[in-house]
Amino acid sequence: MKAILVRRTGDASVLRLEEVDDPVPGPGEAVVRIETAGVNFIDVYQRTGLYARPLPFTPGSEGAGEVVALGDGVTHVRIGDRVVSETMRGTYAELAVAPAERLVRIPAAVSTDVAAAVMLQGLTAHYLTTSTYPLAAGDWCVVHAAAGGVGLLLCQLGAKKGAHVIGTASTSEKQARAREAGAEHAIGYAGFVAEVKRLTGGPGARVVYDSVGKTTFNDSLDALAPRGMLVSFGQSSGAVGPIDPLVLSRKGSLFLTRPTLAHYVPTHEELVARSAELFGWVEGGAIDVRVDRTFPLAEAAEAHRALESRQTSGKVLVKPSPGRR
Ligand code: NDP
Repeated sequence: MKAILVRRTGDASVLRLEEVDDPVPGPGEAVVRIETAGVNFIDVYQRTGLYARPLPFTPGSEGAGEVVALGDGVTHVRIGDRVVSETMRGTYAELAVAPAERLVRIPAAVSTDVAAAVMLQGLTAHYLTTSTYPLAAGDWCVVHAAAGGVGLLLCQLGAKKGAHVIGTASTSEKQARAREAGAEHAIGYAGFVAEVKRLTGGPGARVVYDSVGKTTFNDSLDALAPRGMLVSFGQSSGAVGPIDPLVLSRKGSLFLTRPTLAHYVPTHEELVARSAELFGWVEGGAIDVRVDRTFPLAEAAEAHRALESRQTSGKVLVKPSPGRR
């Protein structure tokens, strides 16, 4: 099969299309013919070596397509099922393998592309707004990178719950997109603390969802109301440095958490429950999934360049195989 292989870590040029052996499913595993793979920042971190992986490897954990082979003892899925997962091994390829219990059947009304586009970022927006800090009507919240993949979904979910969403984004075009998605206010990063204080009438936000990291982290703490929560869930601008817990006390007995998706979908049951609610929102039109651009598998490097250089607003996809729909 054709697959992208990373033989050494580095810039996007290390993503090379090669011919490799087809994967063979082990016990409890399934092989999926990948119609659509989702491109995520974690793929960039693994490519650069920030998150270490043994070499060589095929990037991509998110993908959707058709089950084509099963290992022993698989009961969750059958050959021919249309499935999606955020935890497959090597979805930048025509075929990828996964533990069958990490695959979710795609509802009939949802296209394979939309399923691949919403799984990882949608589950993230789901757990952040329902479990990490459960947003309630009337809460003031800040969403950084509000026109990004996770950001647009957070804006929509915040508005759906009746929260006041203040989105930040780097350009007026992106700010307009955040407003369309449900942000009550959309502003630039410069001076956002003062603007959040002004908009909230003084105290600041109950919660800041911060995926930008290095360049926003300290200001995000300052934008919080006393006993507010900073949800630091990403590092698109670089890693956040060490922090003295006393800072949280001084700035208003704040809460700080650094969550990751895996800990919010640890079991098959929780994965299925969160996905069912997420796909219900998609089917019912409560959230709109914006695909920014789609690349053929051979151009995976271009997909990474677009994501890293802040050109995108929404999801980036890679298409390894032609699909049924
Ligand atoms: P986005 O679509 O949000 O893309 C990143 C955005 O970050 C850019 O478009 C840009 O928006 C903003 N940004 C700010 N500074 C920089 C910079 N220096 N370089 C690049 N981008 C910058 O990506 P995703 O929605 O896919 O992911 C967002 C973050 O969330 C990532 O860090 C990812 O790793 C993390 N994440 C964490 C998860 C978790 O469970 N913890 C799960 C999923 C994602 P603008 O131009 O408007 O500033």
